Amino acid sequence: MRLPPVFLITHSPRQTQILGEKIAARLQPGDILLLHGDLGAGKTELVRGLAVGLGAPPDAVSSPTFALVHEYPTRIPLIHVDLYRLPVMEAEFILELEEYWQRPVVVVIEWAERLGEELPEDYLDITLTWTEDQERSLEIRGAGRRGKELAEVCEA
Ligand code: ADP
Ligand code: MG
Repeated sequence: MRLPPVFLITHSPRQTQILGEKIAARLQPGDILLLHGDLGAGKTELVRGLAVGLGAPPDAVSSPTFALVHEYPTRIPLIHVDLYRLPVMEAEFILELEEYWQRPVVVVIEWAERLGEELPEDYLDITLTWTEDQERSLEIRGAGRRGKELAEVCEA
């Protein structure tokens, strides 16, 4: 059964982080989050909330200074992938990602549209859109059983 998406508005970076913390409280090893949205949409703010919710200090996440993948040593290890600099997916990297799907970690991917067809079965999908200076709209969809459970967490 396909559930309708969850729509949310946040009115500050902190509110977007708080959504991340709320999701983090329910994350399990193996969960995957795919983030979409232009530069400045708030993807990294959401990742900051996830990391804090999983036990990282707030300054652990900065807008990526890393090339592709950064791992935070959180309660459940958080793998933060940013595909901005990788417009075309390389076969080698696709294999690396598929290995993450199998590990007891949480994976969050910015610019997930660049995955193309290489999608896992279960994931939470969040598209962030700039609406005003401090306001963002979020469209949240869950795929598979876990994705749907996590989408419900966002709704409550
Ligand atoms: P992205 O990773 O999508 O490029 P960032 O999270 O790095 O975006 O940046 C978002 C920017 O927008 C930050 O400077 C943040 O302070 C600002 N901002 C303003 N309002 C919001 C909001 N409601 N949610 C998230 N970020 C916001
Ligand atoms: Mg970012």
